[in-house]
Amino acid sequence: MPITTILLDLDDTLITVSMRQFAPAYLDALGQALSRFAPPRQVAAVVLRATQAMQANTDPDVSNYEAFYQAFLPLLEVTHDEIQPVIDRFYREEYPKLRCYVTPRPQARKLAAYLTGSDYQIVIATHPIFPLTAIRQRMDWGGVLDFPYALITAMETAHFSKPNPAYYQEILGQLKVSPAQALMVGDDPENDIAPAHRLGLKTWRITDRSGPVSLPVANHQGTLAEFYERVKAEEW
Ligand SMILES: [Mg+2]
Repeated sequence: MPITTILLDLDDTLITVSMRQFAPAYLDALGQALSRFAPPRQVAAVVLRATQAMQANTDPDVSNYEAFYQAFLPLLEVTHDEIQPVIDRFYREEYPKLRCYVTPRPQARKLAAYLTGSDYQIVIATHPIFPLTAIRQRMDWGGVLDFPYALITAMETAHFSKPNPAYYQEILGQLKVSPAQALMVGDDPENDIAPAHRLGLKTWRITDRSGPVSLPVANHQGTLAEFYERVKAEEW
C-alpha cells in the first residue's frame, strides 16, 4: 500500500533541542512566572506530577489538557480561571526566551517545504504534553512553522501521549488513513519507533544526534538529510 501520510516528530528530529538545558530552564521560568501561587520549586514539582498524571491518562474522553489540569489545580489549590491568564502570559512573554536552547536543522525547512508541497498529508507528531503555542513557537524557531500541515498534535486536542500506540491510532483516525499508509519519522526508539511499528506504520529513525542503534523494529534509519534524499526518491 503506498504511503500517503508522513508523521514527523519535532524535537531532535526537525529541530535540535538541548533538552538537558531546555527542560530545567523551562521549569525554572514557569516556576518564577507562577510564583504568586506557590514557591517556584514547588510549582515545578507540581508541573512534573501533573505531567505524569497526564501521560498516564488513557481515557479517550479526557484530553491531555483536561488530564493535566485535573491533577495540577488541586495540587496548587487554585482554579483554572485564576491561573490560566498567568500561564498564557508565560507562554507569550517568557517562553520565547527559551529559543536559545533550540538550533534549526539546515535540511528541516527544505524537507518541510518539499513534503507539504507534495501529495502527502504531513503531521507534526510531537509529544502532545505541551500547549499548541509552545509547539508552534519551537517550530517557528526551527524555521518549519509556516507550512500547511494536516495536523499538529498538542495537549489541547490529543487524548493520549507517546509511547502509547493509541496516540498514533488517534492521528490515523483523524486523518482517515490505515497504518500501512503511514510512515513515522522520529529520533526516539521508545516513543516514536516502537509504538508506531507495533501499530503497523512504517518507520524511519533519525540518527543525527545519536547515530544508528541496534533497532530490529525500525524499517529504516538515517540522518534527516538521508531521509530527505530518500523521500524525494519515493522508494519505500
Ligand atoms: Mg524527538
